Amino acid sequence: MAQKRITVAIDGHSSCGKSTMAKALAKRIGYAYIDTGAMYRAVTLYCLEKGMIDGDKVNKPRLRRHMPKIEISFKVNEEGKSDTWLNGKNVEKEIRGMEVSNKVSLVSAIGFVRKAMVEQQQAMGRNKGIVMDGRDIGTVVFPDAELKIFITATPEVRAERRYKELQSKGDTTTTFEEVLANVLERDRIDTTRKESPLRQADDALLLDNSNLTIEQQDEWLYKEFLMRVKS
Ligand code: C5P
Repeated sequence: MAQKRITVAIDGHSSCGKSTMAKALAKRIGYAYIDTGAMYRAVTLYCLEKGMIDGDKVNKPRLRRHMPKIEISFKVNEEGKSDTWLNGKNVEKEIRGMEVSNKVSLVSAIGFVRKAMVEQQQAMGRNKGIVMDGRDIGTVVFPDAELKIFITATPEVRAERRYKELQSKGDTTTTFEEVLANVLERDRIDTTRKESPLRQADDALLLDNSNLTIEQQDEWLYKEFLMRVKS
């Protein structure tokens, strides 16, 4: 019997391994994977490049006019990994840097930015068979998703993971304290913003992965997936 295709929504705090887990599941089950954080990061990079951010102020009227010109897509690279493209340019590396990380929560709190991103995300998942990660996937983008996960871990564990990731990518200037401050500040802005604040959907499964290995969490998620497609 053919398995039914479902929607998998993975939300949670910054840097808790959502995308690692989501990517691994998508690959294993042959679903598309969409990193919605990358989309907000790409809009933020666009704003920075155009000088639309001054301190913690985003020039909203200018950004609103520019929204139709911002084209974000994902393309698989030679290593088989998905890269984020912004207006014809591969921006995968730039969007992961601290400059973008420090401003992304300001940009993602803007209502018209969210509306535009959510519309694109809903179109991408129209035919199901998708694993999407972010902050509002189970609450706003796909409230009817068959499998919803909300992941968290302590801020220190999350900062340590992001710090190691930055170091492995050759960033030797950012300190652990800076990364921890960024994680805490993004948590604060993401959970208290007016537009779609980060929260666990009522029907989402909670996973604290502070003390789990990647293999353990992958297995846990795969089992939850199997239960949904077999029922
Ligand atoms: O997942 P990642 O940490 O790359 O996301 C970057 C930022 O984008 C988050 O801190 C949050 O402000 C924003 N975001 C969001 N809604 C999503 C995904 C990300 O607001 N669905």
